[in-house]
Amino acid sequence: MFTIDNPTLTKAPLLTNSPLLTGEAPCPKCGKMHEIRYGKQKINGEWKEGYTLAFVKCGDNTYLVGVNNRYIGKRKLPVQPTIDEVCEDNIWQYRQNKPSRIVDDMEKYGIPRETGYKILLGRGVCKWLNVRRKLIKLKNAWKEDVNKTIEDIKIAKKGDNPIYLGRLRGRLETLQSCRKQIRELCKSDRWAMPDYDERGRREVDKLWGQDYFSASKEVI
Ligand SMILES: [Zn+2]
Repeated sequence: MFTIDNPTLTKAPLLTNSPLLTGEAPCPKCGKMHEIRYGKQKINGEWKEGYTLAFVKCGDNTYLVGVNNRYIGKRKLPVQPTIDEVCEDNIWQYRQNKPSRIVDDMEKYGIPRETGYKILLGRGVCKWLNVRRKLIKLKNAWKEDVNKTIEDIKIAKKGDNPIYLGRLRGRLETLQSCRKQIRELCKSDRWAMPDYDERGRREVDKLWGQDYFSASKEVI
C-alpha cells in the first residue's frame, strides 16, 4: 500500500501545467520519460479520466508516478533541453510524436504555423505519427489476444479435441512472435534515420560530426 502525507504532496511538482513537464514523467524503473496515463475515477456517477492517480507504462509494467496531479516519483524531473541541444544522449528527454509540438518548434525558427502543418501533412509526417499510435494500440490489442488464447488453451486441455488444442497452441506461438516483432519496432532507438534517406543520413552525420548513419547499410 502506498502512503504519502499531505504536506509532502502539496510541495511536490504539478504533473500538468508545469513548465518542466507536460505529458511525460520519468519512469521509476528505467528513468526515461514515458507518457503519463491517468487512472479512471468516478465523477458524479460517471467514470472519467481524473488526476487522482497517474501512471507510466514501461514495457508491460505500470508504475505509479502521481497522486492528485502531483509528481511523487523519486527521480528528478529533467529540465527540457532546447531543440538546438538535441543529441543521441539526451533525445529521450524530448517530448515527441505530436505534430503540434513540431509546429511549435518550427514557429520559433520563423516558419508560420500554417506552413508548418502543410509541411507535416504534405510530407507524410502526420500520417506516420498516426500509424505509430495505431501500432502501439495494435500491440496492446495483441496482448489481450495472447491472454485470451492462453485461457482457451487451459480450457481445451481439459477437453478431448487435440486438433483444436494444437491449433490454439499454433495461434499462441504466432501471436507471440508477431507481438514481439512489433514491440521491438516500437521500442527501437529514437536516434534513427530511415535507411532509404541517404541524403538525410549523410547530412545528420556531417552536422554532428559522427558516423551514426551513413556508414551503415542496414535495412530497417
Ligand atoms: Zn521505463
